[in-house]
Amino acid sequence: MTPLLHVNNLSVRYATARGELHAVSAVNLALDAGQTLGLVGESGCGKSSLGKALVRLVKPSAGEIRVRGVDLASLRGRALKASRFEVQMVFQDPSSALDPRMNIAEAIAEPLRARGELNAAERQARVAELMQQVGLHAELASRLPHQLSGGQRQRVVIARALAPKPALIVCDEPVSALDVSLQAQILNLLCDLQAQLGVAYLFISHDLSVVQYVADRIAVMYLGEVVEVGDRALFWQRPAHPYSQALIAAVPVMDPAHSRAASKTVLGGDVPSPYQPPAGCRFHTRCPQAHPRCQAEAPRLRALQPGHQVACHLYDATLGAPA
Ligand code: SF4
Repeated sequence: MTPLLHVNNLSVRYATARGELHAVSAVNLALDAGQTLGLVGESGCGKSSLGKALVRLVKPSAGEIRVRGVDLASLRGRALKASRFEVQMVFQDPSSALDPRMNIAEAIAEPLRARGELNAAERQARVAELMQQVGLHAELASRLPHQLSGGQRQRVVIARALAPKPALIVCDEPVSALDVSLQAQILNLLCDLQAQLGVAYLFISHDLSVVQYVADRIAVMYLGEVVEVGDRALFWQRPAHPYSQALIAAVPVMDPAHSRAASKTVLGGDVPSPYQPPAGCRFHTRCPQAHPRCQAEAPRLRALQPGHQVACHLYDATLGAPA
């Protein structure tokens, strides 16, 4: 089956006064319709740049972004505008994502107006349907964003994203600006909407426990590269890459008797500069298991077992064909 989303050798580089910043480097990913791929990694690892490239808020430097077989990275003009309805984005901070002068009904109707397929009465009915789907009472329609709570504002942003009936929503840290009780509500809402509507999510977060809650598969990024991808249970129980092991070890465990086997791996040192990523494996400057080959040769992402890929020389004896 062809995946809904197929990212092929995608790179994003930014020209800055300091030089060229390597935000995303030759990333390959796939996501099926109606599924959630969690994308994790430390701050600055390229997660958000990858998400923005998928919705074409930033222009890829190289590679393909295929959605239902159409390469969004190569589109221009009208075709690019139309593709934006197919892939939507939910940002971390709902306040900055909403126009403070637009009431809630207008904010949700805006993408419908841009699409131009519905008349005014149809738009009004669709806005009412979307508000109901995201759990917003109809009486909030005339309120301005500042008159809503943070959780309500994020529901408005989700309704806007759903309005053009996208196949994929990029959720970039969608709950990290909310307090813990609201986080659970928004995560449950996203899961319920996916079950109802069949929308796929690329769910970006620095918080592995949040991703663990929503994702079917998890991809780990380090310094612009994907270093491991696995089905949720496989990844959580048997993380293969030393960086993934360190991330999982850093997640607080309530019961020390059930501390994870991977907790031996502790992450030290600073993330190297994305302006001059290290040669070989980019993780070698921090990896407790690095060996001389790691400095000279970059490992490729390859299948460790069905549903699990890793980029690490430690598994050369067991790795299968290139992914
Ligand atoms: Fe560590 Fe080498 Fe594997 Fe990179 S390739 S993660 S440096 S062991």
